[in-house]
Amino acid sequence: MTQYDVLIVGAGQAGAQVAMSLRAASFEGSIALIGAEADAPYERPPLSKDYLAGEKTAERLQLRPADFWTSRNIELRLGERVTAVDAAAHSVTTDRSVTLGYRHLVWATGGPPRALPVPGGDLAGVHVIRTRADVDTLRAEAETATNIIIVGGGYIGLEAAAVLSKAGKHVTVLEAMDRVLARVAGEPVSRFYEAQHRAHGVTIVLGAKIEKFEGEGRVTGVRTVDGVLPADLVIVGIGIVPAVAELAAAGAKVSNGVEVDNLCRTSLPDVFAIGDCAFHVNEYALGNGIRLESVQNAIDQAKTVAGVITGAPKPYHAVPWFWSNQYDLKLQTVGLSGGHDATVLRGDPASGSWSLVYLNKGRVVALDCINAARDFVQGKALVDAGVMQGLVPDLELLKNSEVPLKSLLPAA
Ligand code: FAD
Repeated sequence: MTQYDVLIVGAGQAGAQVAMSLRAASFEGSIALIGAEADAPYERPPLSKDYLAGEKTAERLQLRPADFWTSRNIELRLGERVTAVDAAAHSVTTDRSVTLGYRHLVWATGGPPRALPVPGGDLAGVHVIRTRADVDTLRAEAETATNIIIVGGGYIGLEAAAVLSKAGKHVTVLEAMDRVLARVAGEPVSRFYEAQHRAHGVTIVLGAKIEKFEGEGRVTGVRTVDGVLPADLVIVGIGIVPAVAELAAAGAKVSNGVEVDNLCRTSLPDVFAIGDCAFHVNEYALGNGIRLESVQNAIDQAKTVAGVITGAPKPYHAVPWFWSNQYDLKLQTVGLSGGHDATVLRGDPASGSWSLVYLNKGRVVALDCINAARDFVQGKALVDAGVMQGLVPDLELLKNSEVPLKSLLPAA
């Protein structure tokens, strides 16, 4: 049985970062990265942005050049899936019927896209956007498509809508809630993006109730309670399901993801979990448990694990941040808005550059900054001071976009 000092399951953003951080910390033990996809580690954010638009090559998605992994003695086991974990034996089994032993196991498996539970989901022409391979197929089919329906008005669905409408497609977004981005942003942000998409010719249907995907073999339309909308191509973007079944079967504590402590340790000995599949208590979620789907979280949790393995443990503590590009709008988010009880507008949405500030008991807990990079950069310290020290800034100054956010911090 091959034995590794560190066995990382999932060769995505988080898994790759663990290997990189370990070598950067001069860790000399053996490291293997097992990835179910055939690709070497690559970044996903461009998949719904410039890669979908054909403006970025597959090569430029790679997190590191191919020779990086060999030169650092990091074994890539690609196209191989872990199917079972034996926590007592400290080993895993893969779909090649191979058993691999570990000293430390890092579970970094992300999650497959959530399927819409309606008939017709398996018809040809119904797509998701999670992997490079998904987008290659989608892009090829989109070339000849006229009517494209996107199910889900979250970031990925809206980014795809922006790219495909710019490419001249007739795009309809079907959103089940009464506004887009409802899960992640305040109402002013939702309404702003709905207006932007409509101005670019995208049809946005709110409160959509989908009954089935129509078609014989290939999708031809989407039936909602209000009738059938024609579709040559459908993209379903309604979130992911954390890929944790194998760890749960091994006895790990699992709820909305694998539960981990602030050192990313699961309830199983020597097993860590990080990235999209890890459910953790986050200070910026005001002490609540959360699963974050962001590059920031994947990287910072990976660094936490590398710290533990190399004997320099530092509890996970990082202000969450995220971005989304749609048309010429760059949204940058800092903090977590889930627990807000009030919002404040900075700047005028009509100007195209503004921020929505989220407050909890007067403290700034998050900001959505639209073409407002300065607010994003300076807002980070304000969120930190709000959540960690209870700073309550002056509301009138906060509202005034002429007042730099850094001036609201206590003097150093
Ligand atoms: P992943 O990157 O998904 O990697 C997990 C890997 O594990 C996958 O390759 C999977 O195949 C593999 N795997 C799963 N199960 C097994 C198994 N049993 N055995 C072996 N391998 C397995 N974040 C941002 O911050 N900003 C953005 O703008 C942004 N845009 C995005 C756009 C898209 C289209 C997508 C899909 C995501 C976007 N994200 C964005 C989210 C970000 O990409 C994820 O948070 C990040 O990739 C999570 O990293 P991860 O390593 O946890 O999971």
